[in-house]
Amino acid sequence: MRPAPSQDEVRRQNLGALLRHVHVHGATTRAELTTTLRLNRSTIGALTADLTAVGLVSEGTPKETGRAGRPSLVVRPESNRVYAYAYSVEVDRLRAARVGLGGAVLDRRDLDRPRGLLAAEAAPLLAGAVKEMQQTVPADAICVGAGVAVCGMVRRDDGLVRLGPTTGWVDEPIGAALGAELGIGVPITVGNVADVAAFAEHTRGVAAGCDNVIYLYGDVGVGAGIIAGGRRLTGHGGYGGEVGHMKVVRDGLPCECGARGCWETEIGEHGLLRAAGRSDARGREALLAVFDAADRGDARAQTAVRQAGDWLGFGIANLVNVFNPEMLIFGGTMRDLYLASAAQIRSRLNSNALGACLEHVRLRTPQLGEDAPLIGAAELAFERLLADPLDVG
Ligand SMILES: [Zn+2]
Repeated sequence: MRPAPSQDEVRRQNLGALLRHVHVHGATTRAELTTTLRLNRSTIGALTADLTAVGLVSEGTPKETGRAGRPSLVVRPESNRVYAYAYSVEVDRLRAARVGLGGAVLDRRDLDRPRGLLAAEAAPLLAGAVKEMQQTVPADAICVGAGVAVCGMVRRDDGLVRLGPTTGWVDEPIGAALGAELGIGVPITVGNVADVAAFAEHTRGVAAGCDNVIYLYGDVGVGAGIIAGGRRLTGHGGYGGEVGHMKVVRDGLPCECGARGCWETEIGEHGLLRAAGRSDARGREALLAVFDAADRGDARAQTAVRQAGDWLGFGIANLVNVFNPEMLIFGGTMRDLYLASAAQIRSRLNSNALGACLEHVRLRTPQLGEDAPLIGAAELAFERLLADPLDVG
């Protein structure tokens, strides 16, 4: 039997719970905190005083309520003062942002990423973006860490990007490269972009309150962030969720992973552009041009979009049968494909998935939009703070 937690451990757990609540839900009255956290008023007062003393929250009076009597004080996260850096490494783009406690993007930079750019070349570009942003950071602000969302398979233990079939990365140490360039001495956590985006939508987006969620993210390839029973499902080494490499056609088309017949050869960028007769084109703009042409009545583009939508429905029917999610979210290029072919997807899903698994499944687009990978990367960085708020700085 584990020994009962000490008073100090209980206090730290309660501090974490209070800070997590205002981080996720924003300004909250002491009265609401008392009810939600099931702690008495004097404990909430003491915890708030501790968090205020280290600059993580502030207290104030709420806006006029119109009710008589003394209003309950409101506890707010110090969103402008406590922040994390978030990075997103995508096939054609690098992004850096400063995200405040509470999840607001305070500042951001977007850069083009030439295909083939390695971690050692990407890190100075991202560090340059951070140095620009640092010029406007208040002097008393606290950076609690950094998180990176990467298109690729990320080793959980140390954040090494083992393989990014679409970025061309093999064993790329992006976290270490960024740490060396930045020199700001904060921990850097690396995660797969689909996992990280799912984490963000589950924490504060369309999937808040849902315990079983699949976030399907398309860049050039396709991956999934899976939440099962309220927990992120990333597998033994951190490589789970590579649904784009589910084999759907025996001896099918070659995939960038080296195998044949992977799902993403049909629904990813290359598959859709090939089907539309545009194999020489590439990039998000080229994909959007296909959807646009389909919209305007181009028969070949319409067939390509319909086929890809059918394949998308075919694959998610398998995911629905295996994981029984209550929500499927379509992010990145999968959002574009979902919006362009929702009828095919629904039809294929309804005919291929098991009735019981289909009963409560909702199909959604991301509430956080394209910011989900950045906000999720910041959430990775905030996790350490929320686990032990007094360890900050
Ligand atoms: Zn593959």
